[in-house]
Amino acid sequence: MNDDTGSMELDLGGVEARSTFSFDRAFDLPTPEGGVTACAVAVGVSVSRSASSYCVEARVKGSVRAECHRCLASFDLPVDTTFTFILNRGEPSTLPDGAEEEDIVSIPVTRETTLDIYPRVREALILEIPIKLLCREDCRGVCRKCGANLNEGECGCNPGIGDPRWGALKKFLNGENKT
Ligand SMILES: [Zn+2]
Ligand SMILES: [Zn+2]
Repeated sequence: MNDDTGSMELDLGGVEARSTFSFDRAFDLPTPEGGVTACAVAVGVSVSRSASSYCVEARVKGSVRAECHRCLASFDLPVDTTFTFILNRGEPSTLPDGAEEEDIVSIPVTRETTLDIYPRVREALILEIPIKLLCREDCRGVCRKCGANLNEGECGCNPGIGDPRWGALKKFLNGENKT
């Protein structure tokens, strides 16, 4: 339960032309319900330096602990996402070739020291969490009678025997056969 463990410092001053960084981190993420949930990720970052900017490309891969909205069981939601942004060195520059404007955020770098990309990794992960969380596509949820998790098997509230609809059908069929 300590957010400070997330820090991911990039040593921009030490980047000559291109450097890579990697981090393995576990930290807490806020949930849409207002709580926190654990996640564990491997982050790979590539930083390219040009005359006027740094291009930072990151890949975030790992899992987020989630609770299924249908059966309430905890499960690990796999995440694999990337993000890119540009850090301008001094004066704003034009976008590098092949960069898409919506993927790029420009932040003027006044002092070339270190940059902590943890807040961006955190943001990218939060965006990866879907509104509707399901442990699996065909999650059967919980029994409305006894609350048992139906993914773990039948709970015994099976309506097959004693269901009035079956009784009515039996009577109907018997009646048809006798006359
Ligand atoms: Zn479920
Ligand atoms: Zn049941």
